[in-house]
Amino acid sequence: VTEPRATSEPRVVPEETPLTAPYWAAARRGTVLLQRCTDCGLVWHPPAPTCPAGPAHRVEWVEASGRASLVGATSVRHAVHAAVADRLPYLVALVELEEGPLFVCSLADVDEEQLVRGLPLTLAPGPTPGGLVLPVARPAAGADAAGPALPA
Ligand SMILES: [Zn+2]
Repeated sequence: VTEPRATSEPRVVPEETPLTAPYWAAARRGTVLLQRCTDCGLVWHPPAPTCPAGPAHRVEWVEASGRASLVGATSVRHAVHAAVADRLPYLVALVELEEGPLFVCSLADVDEEQLVRGLPLTLAPGPTPGGLVLPVARPAAGADAAGPALPA
């Protein structure tokens, strides 16, 4: 009996539902969509069936600017699933989108020493090793590391 290779394990993938289908379709086209309330102006993520401020409010999809700033990040050094064992270590970030919502995503093209609160980021969907298209944050062009260092 041979042990299955880590890379042959199925990936843990987000479930696409009727509610989230517009989000995933846009990601595959290279854009991030957010829900916005046309009655009160609130913007939120992840997608919800109604406006969090009023169930009778009308909801529309809007394209995110892609501008965001770093709130926090962690380096994942232990595989939480066999399918990601071949990717260690990798960075997961909590970012604040320009439109307001907080967003959890991968963080790429940055050294841990550069991670400071408020680091300007660009968020854009990109292909992942598992074949999914997921939003990934990268330092914005010309981004300065001017904020306080994140706690280790
Ligand atoms: Zn509303």
